[in-house]
Amino acid sequence: MKRSEGVTALYPGSFDPVHNGHLDIIVRARRVFGRVVVAVATNVGKQAMFSTEDRVEMLRAAMAGQEGIDVQAFEGLTVEFAASIGAGVIVRGLRANEDFEFELKMAAMNKRLHPEIETVFMMTSPEYAYLSSTLIREVTGFGGSVAGLIPAAVEARLARLPKPRP
Ligand code: ADP
Repeated sequence: MKRSEGVTALYPGSFDPVHNGHLDIIVRARRVFGRVVVAVATNVGKQAMFSTEDRVEMLRAAMAGQEGIDVQAFEGLTVEFAASIGAGVIVRGLRANEDFEFELKMAAMNKRLHPEIETVFMMTSPEYAYLSSTLIREVTGFGGSVAGLIPAAVEARLARLPKPRP
């Protein structure tokens, strides 16, 4: 496959925390687009487990040394941020049906706001189909192991959290 060198893709999300399902999408997106900007949302509606700075730091550590991949925090509308950095594409990952309805609405609204920006969906790799940051937070919260599902930087950071009481 020939990469679209001139195209910057924005991959936005909460990444609270980043997991291997996210990393898989980032690496695959980079195979298609010249530059991938991973955009960490500061305005996370739900109560975040990690601060924006921590989420950015863990992503940067996970992506260290990978050419053409940047990590940045942003606030406000995703599509406005995409336009402000000259991204032609917004990449989103799709898991099962439950992602579809939300993503359809979001893509339609973003198209209305910035018709020149395309949303491109990448299907999850089957081994990550069940993986979500929510699940990582829940399992960790009860002291369960999420080893092998998250990058080393997140594993190290989770290990420093206070242990749940028995
Ligand atoms: P948000 O908070 O915007 O839902 P997340 O941080 O949970 O975002 O995820 C960012 C993006 O990664 C979204 O497009 C989401 O659908 C996608 N994603 C999350 N988990 C997976 C996974 N296991 N496989 C593929 N894509 C995923």
